[in-house]
Amino acid sequence: MLSTDFESSVESLDHPVDNAPVRTLQHKGLTIEGYSRAAVQTYWRVPELKLGFDLGGQPWSFMSTPNWFVSHVHLDHVAALPVLVARRRMMKMEPPTIYLPADAVEGVELLLRAVQRLDRGRMPARLIGLEAGDEVELSRELVVQAFATKHTLPSLGYLVWERRKKLKPEYHALSGDEIRDLRLSGIEVSAEIRLAKVAYLGDTAPAGLDAFAEIYRAQVLILEMTFVAPNERPSLIHKFGHTHLDDLLDRADRFENEVIIASHFSTRLHPDQIQRIVEKRLPDSLRGRMKVWL
Ligand SMILES: [Zn+2]
Ligand SMILES: [Zn+2]
Repeated sequence: MLSTDFESSVESLDHPVDNAPVRTLQHKGLTIEGYSRAAVQTYWRVPELKLGFDLGGQPWSFMSTPNWFVSHVHLDHVAALPVLVARRRMMKMEPPTIYLPADAVEGVELLLRAVQRLDRGRMPARLIGLEAGDEVELSRELVVQAFATKHTLPSLGYLVWERRKKLKPEYHALSGDEIRDLRLSGIEVSAEIRLAKVAYLGDTAPAGLDAFAEIYRAQVLILEMTFVAPNERPSLIHKFGHTHLDDLLDRADRFENEVIIASHFSTRLHPDQIQRIVEKRLPDSLRGRMKVWL
């Protein structure tokens, strides 16, 4: 038996493998799956959109997701990048497409080459460097926009837009036939409208929240709340490119999101303490909408 036949007969996605924790939430037809703790590991995906954010770990089930957006290359966000590439090759899936801050592409290429040399397996991946403001068209309906965040390394957040065509108001009174005739004569009768579906911030100081107001209107917002204790020094937290519960409370009125997932909590406190502190301090306007994922 060829070794590749053997591999494909023992590795399967049909049976669950519980190799990494995953929290789950359903919202308006989307499933948000993920887990994030500072300095431990961070990974998220939305299977319906065929995309994920960050590769600090790689739950076995996540390998079927083909498009990945990396916020920055600290190890807790990128350590499992070679794992994703190798698993998809082993399972005879298409190489993944991995979008990441442009400054990091060369280093990640070197990393994959080093793993290839050690592991002696090919490491096929499409690595695409992005700058703030770049847009990626994943499909006719889906566009992902990169925006600047503020961390200690070059870093990006991502906003997933759903695009729809909508008839321009000046044509609302026309009949279906008239609209069709206009369309056939080459006139653009519809305009694009965009709906912010999911925003992901990665690691960032509060400046990352303030620089791109669209994130406050995304249906689902995934953000970091690394620190919650009252005795933490804001200047230090911000210098290291992170956000404190107080920073989010200062902006409580701005969140129009339907769901906000707070994550990336530091390991300094017990999960029960974190939960207790956040619950006590959340204003009514955020209670119920803001989920604490530990
Ligand atoms: Zn991190
Ligand atoms: Zn980081």
